[in-house]
Amino acid sequence: MNEQPKFKPSQPADELVRQWLDLYRDFGIEEAYLPEKSFTGAAQESHSLPQLEHLRTVELGICTRCKLHKGRKTIVFGEGNPAAQLMLVGEAPGADEDIQGRPFVGRAGQLLMQMIKAIQFERNQVYIANVLKCRPPENRPPEPDEVKTCSPFLWQQISIIQPKVILALGAFAAQTLIGSKSSISFLRNRVYEMPFGKVIATYHPSFLLRSPQKKPEAWEDLKLVRKTLES
Ligand code: URA
Repeated sequence: MNEQPKFKPSQPADELVRQWLDLYRDFGIEEAYLPEKSFTGAAQESHSLPQLEHLRTVELGICTRCKLHKGRKTIVFGEGNPAAQLMLVGEAPGADEDIQGRPFVGRAGQLLMQMIKAIQFERNQVYIANVLKCRPPENRPPEPDEVKTCSPFLWQQISIIQPKVILALGAFAAQTLIGSKSSISFLRNRVYEMPFGKVIATYHPSFLLRSPQKKPEAWEDLKLVRKTLES
């Protein structure tokens, strides 16, 4: 299967519709969503944007708290709508993110954007962050001391944004947010009512690039996200 991004906004409308239908077919999607209400919380935006900026520039700063600072190019703090009702949380920046200083901008990010478009979200309507803000060498899994040092910044991002739903991408983010050691196949497709909001876990988009046969399950998780947001 061709895994190249299929959604290019500069293309004519009929081509976009064709690509949209291809995407739906890839995911095994049988029903389409039409936006019924806005999922951006404008009321909070004026408070949370300066708080996030304070967290990024003053509290996190040019962080040297853990060993990852030695190999990183940029800190990938996170970005998006500061009043988002949907927050996406991944593991740690990869090579593309480390260069650009933005989360999920590589191939996995392109797939992630297709996934959220399928439930009628644009990138600028959600907030995207990672458990770790710096890239581990060779994309190795995060180590406990790194998580201990860095995750308080994620918790603060969550408490500022107060999203209604957090979509945890992959086992690592899911286990961190839910506080579980279970596998992603066990954790996914359920709503966890955590003190800081509802968490739903799904497969990491990098895994879905390697295992496209799992996309229909990811679509079930995305539908649960949409249903939970509408509830
Ligand atoms: N994988 C992640 O978990 N996060 C990113 O930002 C990019 C790839």
